Amino acid sequence: RRLRVGILFGGRSGEHEVSLMSARSVYRAIDRERFEPVPIGITRAGQWILPRDAEALLEAGRGVEPADGVPLAVVPGPEGRRLLVLDGGPGGDGAGAGSSGTGDAGGAGAAGAPGGRWLEPLDVVFPVLHGTFGEDGTVQGLLELAGIPYVGAGVLGSAVGMDKAVMKELFRARGLPVVPFLVVTAARWRREPAAVIDEIEGALGYPCFTKPANLGSSVAIRRCRDRRQLEAGLAEAFAYDRKVVVERGVDARELEISVLGNDEPVASLPGEIRPRAEFYTYEAKYTEGGAELIVPASLPPRLVAEMQRLAVAAFQAIDAAGLARVDFFLERATGRLLVNEINTIPGFTALSMYPKLWEAAGLSYRDLITRLIELALERHGERA
Ligand code: ADP
Ligand code: MG
Ligand code: MG
Repeated sequence: RRLRVGILFGGRSGEHEVSLMSARSVYRAIDRERFEPVPIGITRAGQWILPRDAEALLEAGRGVEPADGVPLAVVPGPEGRRLLVLDGGPGGDGAGAGSSGTGDAGGAGAAGAPGGRWLEPLDVVFPVLHGTFGEDGTVQGLLELAGIPYVGAGVLGSAVGMDKAVMKELFRARGLPVVPFLVVTAARWRREPAAVIDEIEGALGYPCFTKPANLGSSVAIRRCRDRRQLEAGLAEAFAYDRKVVVERGVDARELEISVLGNDEPVASLPGEIRPRAEFYTYEAKYTEGGAELIVPASLPPRLVAEMQRLAVAAFQAIDAAGLARVDFFLERATGRLLVNEINTIPGFTALSMYPKLWEAAGLSYRDLITRLIELALERHGERA
C-alpha cells in the first residue's frame, strides 16, 4: 500500500502565495509509486479545503479563497492519524457552503462527533506552509494531538525558529555569532518612544534593520538610514507583531546552507544570494530576475567547514528536525561570519535554494521529498 501523504498548503499567513508555489512543486514531484499525495488547502481565513477541491486549486495555481471551500474547522480525532472535520452546518451532514468536499470524508456522524466527519487517515503530513499558522508550531501542535507524523521541526523548534528574538537569543547563548540586536515591544514603544530611539541609536546606529519578530519572506522589513526612517520602520513592523527586532545593518555577502536530518543532521555546501535590490526584499525573492542564486558559493574550504559547523549548531540550538535552511552574512569589511536566521520550512519549489543545494550534492528533488518523509516517520517512531 502506498503511504497517504497529506500536503498542507496556503495558510493563514502573509506567505500564502509562496506556499502555493512550494506545494505545487511537491505535489508534482512526489514519488507516486511509494506515496499517494493528498492535498489539503487552508484559506487565508483559516478554513480547510478538503482533498478533492484542494487538488483542483493546486492545479489551477491561484490562491485559496474562502469562497472555494466549505467553512471548516479541523480538530484532532481521538483515534490515531485522523482529523475530524467540523463544518458547523445544520445537522452536520456535511452540506456546507461549498460545492463538494464530502467525498473526501468517510463515516458521517461518528460517535461523539456531532456535525463532524473524519478525514481519511493520513500516514504522514508534509506541512508546505510558510510563516504564521504553519511554520510556527501551531499546525505542528494539531498534528501532534492527532498522532500524525509530519515533516520538519516539532512544536518547540517551529515556534522558536519563527520568532527572530528568541531564535537570536538562543543562538547567542550557544556562542553562535549574530549581528548586534535589540528587541522592542509595542507597549514600550508606546510608553517611551524617545528612549527607544536613543537606545537603538546608541547601541546599533545607522543603517539598522527593523523586523517584525514573527514573519518571513522579508515582509515588513525596512533598512533605516536615519531617525525618520527608523520611526517609520518601527511603525510598520508593529503593524504585524507586538515584538520587533532591530539589528545593526551589515554590508555582507548573503550565504545559505541546507540542513537535513533529525538528531544527527548534515549540512550541504553553501549557496550565495545576490539580490539586485538594496537588500533581499520580498520583490527580490519572488520576482523573476530579482536575485541571482549561486550554487555552490565560491568560498575558501575553511569558511565552508566553519559554516557547516555553525549551521548544524544553529539547527540543534532551536531543536529543529527534518529540514532547515540556515542563512548567514559574511561581512565584507571584516570577513566575519554571522548567523542571520534559520527557516524551518524554507522555500521549497524545485528551483528554491534548499532543494537546489541538495541537488548539487546528488540528492534529487524527488528523493529529497522521500527522505524528508522517512525522517518524519523515524522521528515519530522514536518517540512512540
Ligand atoms: P526573513 O525571515 O523575512 O527572510 P531576514 O532577517 O532574513 O528576514 O531579513 C531579510 C533580508 O533583509 C536579508 O536576507 C537581508 O538581505 C536583509 N537584512 C536583514 N537583516 C540585515 C542586517 N542586520 N544587515 C544587513 N541586511 C539585513
Ligand atoms: Mg526567515
Ligand atoms: Mg531571510
